[in-house]
Amino acid sequence: MTDYLTRLFIDGSWQDADSGETFAVLNPADGSELARVADADARDMTRAIDGAERAQIGWAATPALERSRILRRAAEIGRADIDRLARVMTAEHGKPIAQSIGELNYGFDFIDWFAEEARRTYGTTVPSTGPDKRIVAIRQAAGVSVAITPWNFPSLQILRKLGAALAAGCSMVVKPAALTPISALEIGRFFAEAGLPDGVLQIVLSSRASRVSATIMADSRVRVLSFTGSTEVGKILMREGAATMKRLALELGGHAPFIVFDDADVEHALDQLVAVKMRNMGQTCVSANRIFVQRSIAPEFTRRLVERLSSMKVGFGHEDGVEVGPLIEAAAVAKVEAHVADAVAGGAGVATGGKRPEHSALANGHFYEPTVLTGVTDDMLVARDETFGPVAPIFEFDTEEEVVARANNSPYGLAAYFFTRDVNRVVRVSESLQYGTVGANDGSISAVQAPFGGVKESGIGREGGHWGMEEYLDTKYISLAGL
Ligand code: NAD
Repeated sequence: MTDYLTRLFIDGSWQDADSGETFAVLNPADGSELARVADADARDMTRAIDGAERAQIGWAATPALERSRILRRAAEIGRADIDRLARVMTAEHGKPIAQSIGELNYGFDFIDWFAEEARRTYGTTVPSTGPDKRIVAIRQAAGVSVAITPWNFPSLQILRKLGAALAAGCSMVVKPAALTPISALEIGRFFAEAGLPDGVLQIVLSSRASRVSATIMADSRVRVLSFTGSTEVGKILMREGAATMKRLALELGGHAPFIVFDDADVEHALDQLVAVKMRNMGQTCVSANRIFVQRSIAPEFTRRLVERLSSMKVGFGHEDGVEVGPLIEAAAVAKVEAHVADAVAGGAGVATGGKRPEHSALANGHFYEPTVLTGVTDDMLVARDETFGPVAPIFEFDTEEEVVARANNSPYGLAAYFFTRDVNRVVRVSESLQYGTVGANDGSISAVQAPFGGVKESGIGREGGHWGMEEYLDTKYISLAGL
């Protein structure tokens, strides 16, 4: 039996919940129980915020170079332990081990990036209104921050926020998703080993998010809330944050269009589509959800996509060669099934997949076959709502104007992709898509130095690059007179 971390990480020590309650963490590949972890309530969350507040002033006053060194050390310790961390992640999440390693490396790159940004929190001196005055603008840590994160990238979603918060000089309380809490606790382990002072990072697990989030949202000491998750919960938090005027960074749902024009490099578009559709079994906010293919190339494009998806190996994430693991839970499979059933009832065809795998070894896991749907129309569920699964629905279109309008016809605005060899169209379509992130001939948009985030109901704020630090910094204007 693997030795999993199971307790809350508060003030530098591993603690049980005040109530003594625990909840089970399950392996989605076979339904087995991996561990029982501490189940926090409001009392534990208050204790964590108390500790974060105590640590805050000292951390903000720690020289940037020292903060930077601790961040770098944490990334180094994590990297040295990456194989074990990846096995933990695959056990509680299900994703293939190579994807767990990829996620962890990307997360450590964020920590390295923010370790450098920590050294560049520059202020400004502005010409003043008279010889006896000076105008100075400085950047200061905003205060205690909280991260509430989803299960789809159990480590990355935390590291991306934590790196920026720590670099800016903010302490942080992390409330990870209840489905993947162990990877979150591991982050506490390697930051503690790196010498992060007690209380600067607190990790509080809870099986019922709303019972700890009410405490977070009502507490005026929490100045920044960075949330990644569904638009529905983001809206609740935005309303609740109004009471204490918290700064909110919200990374919410997406419904990415993936447009292939008839002049595209089809082989390249297919490579990018398979990667962005099937990563994490389609459970990403930037997954290609609406695949628009220009009518003249649609039959051939579909045939080649089917060829690729139907040959992907579905199975246990820790086994060699597996490319598609289980979905996170039974409800996720039920949602995929409902979307496929709705499309079929509306006249769509299933070109491959469309069901759970029949292999008996997979019977206890939440598996679903890679699926291609044809003849999909804009009134179907797959066109309106995130499927969050391995389903590729093909929509056909005729003109550029039409497809841009259809792509923009969504309350979401996170990521969009399009493929064409026409350079004028690259500029036109890039500028016309109402999305925070656009991949022009590119499905691989992840980059630590870039400003990732959405518009419309996909959220507020940006993560990554120097933009990511902004969420955790206040600008203070100091007017110096009588000189
Ligand atoms: P979710 O909103 O259900 O949960 C996200 C987090 O919020 C979890 O920690 C959960 O415990 C917590 N939570 C749930 N209800 C809450 C409440 N009432 N108050 C406070 N916290 C609450 O989302 P999910 O199912 O974990 O994640 C999938 C969603 O996240 C999808 O919509 C996806 O598109 C989105 N997502 C967005 C991004 C992005 O960067 N924009 C990245 C990944 C996922």
